[in-house]
Amino acid sequence: MSRDPDFESLTDELSSHKVYCANCIHCKLFRAPRGTAAEYGLRVKCAAGKWRKKLGEEKIYKYFTVIRRTLDECDAYVPMGETQEFLKELRRSLPIKDETYTPARTEAP
Ligand code: SF4
Repeated sequence: MSRDPDFESLTDELSSHKVYCANCIHCKLFRAPRGTAAEYGLRVKCAAGKWRKKLGEEKIYKYFTVIRRTLDECDAYVPMGETQEFLKELRRSLPIKDETYTPARTEAP
């Protein structure tokens, strides 16, 4: 039986004492414009307003880093599923770098 090496390393890194923002209902994915008007990158933010810079400005992160967003605790954490299974699926689908996306054309040329 083959094993998923990514999941093994992720499981090794997982801590039951940490909160993983990626598994929280308040962790929101959105499109951030870049380059030409049609191009965008994927970003995440905390809809509960917990990600703040020192001066209070909202922090956003590149989507491909979302699995690294962890906290020791968060009073607003609302899990969306069992953490290990959720992160296993997320790691499989996450891009490995900050990609630029362009919407698929639907109209005829
Ligand atoms: S509410 Fe807390 S756990 Fe949820 S995304 Fe925001 S900071 Fe992370």
